[in-house]
Amino acid sequence: MATRAESGAHAVLRKALLAWYRDARRDLPWRRTRDPYGIWISETMLQQTRVETVLAYWPRFLARFPDVESLARASEEDVLAAWSGLGYYRRARALRVAAGALVEQHGGRFPRDLQGALGLAGVGRYTAGAVLSIAHDDRLPVVDGNVARVFSRLFALEDLPQSPGGQRRLWSLAEELLPPGGSPGEWNQALMELGALVCTPREPTCGQCPVARLCLARAQGRAASLPRPKPRPTTLDVRLEVLWVRRGGATLVERRPDDASRLAGLFELPTRETGTRSGLFPEAWSVAGLFLPGEELLRVRHAITRHRIEAVVRAARLATGRGLPGRFAWHRPGAPEGAALTGMAKKVLARGGAA
Ligand code: SF4
Repeated sequence: MATRAESGAHAVLRKALLAWYRDARRDLPWRRTRDPYGIWISETMLQQTRVETVLAYWPRFLARFPDVESLARASEEDVLAAWSGLGYYRRARALRVAAGALVEQHGGRFPRDLQGALGLAGVGRYTAGAVLSIAHDDRLPVVDGNVARVFSRLFALEDLPQSPGGQRRLWSLAEELLPPGGSPGEWNQALMELGALVCTPREPTCGQCPVARLCLARAQGRAASLPRPKPRPTTLDVRLEVLWVRRGGATLVERRPDDASRLAGLFELPTRETGTRSGLFPEAWSVAGLFLPGEELLRVRHAITRHRIEAVVRAARLATGRGLPGRFAWHRPGAPEGAALTGMAKKVLARGGAA
């Protein structure tokens, strides 16, 4: 139970932050709708992807899949193609699976209750709370990376935000701070906006912060050192040989296995790992025997999570006149219905002048 003093501080905090938000908020296209479908798509895209990138993808995705039914009907390949370049493709797969469940079990609508929303593929407490509070003003908290950072600083929290204890503390604070009246959706967005615009990861602009006088980290001179950083995973070097087989204006691409640990189901140029063993490019789909590698065309650097990739791209010919296995396809540049390419495949084609 909050004490009277805490409640008073919370009220001051809410008032200052909401006044700032009404003035400073960015006019983002998904903020102009209360349609749960559009908000759900935007919230899913915004997890792990920058706003600037989502600004380009969100309207395109909605133009292609304007409602739950169209997304449920779409093939996985079409959805991945629309998602291509956003990364973390399991989000796109989950959206399609969840759309199918919405059609079958919820009359094609995003559920109106938290439990129903949490039953959908890819929808966790954050997404459910964000969609329901923003679309319907349901009194549900959200904690994303921005909120975690703002709370860690405002309340000088020592826990790692990702730790179970840190998560419990953050969610309980988010719940406690929800406005008793007014708009929980607006409040949640105000918190996230403060984290995105002012209380930023490296250099928070405390001088412009509407809640600076309530901030413990600032008072203690620790604004830039909270939240405590997560121990960094070691980076792994990966060396690849990538084959560029052309026929007319088309490039041969190969579909990654459905059970690949990353980028499953996307298309890439025939690739094998040389000298390193990351597990990203399993031997099982080695290109040996199918192709005759030739001259080196270019070198490409790329990163996938903690993997730092250096790829040697070679011109190659087919070693056999026989047909290729069904996982191969010919990709033509600029074809909007084309295969859903991995980010690295796009980079290779762009660098080679065939994007
Ligand atoms: S005063 Fe600085 S550290 Fe504290 S909430 Fe504002 S921007 Fe973040």
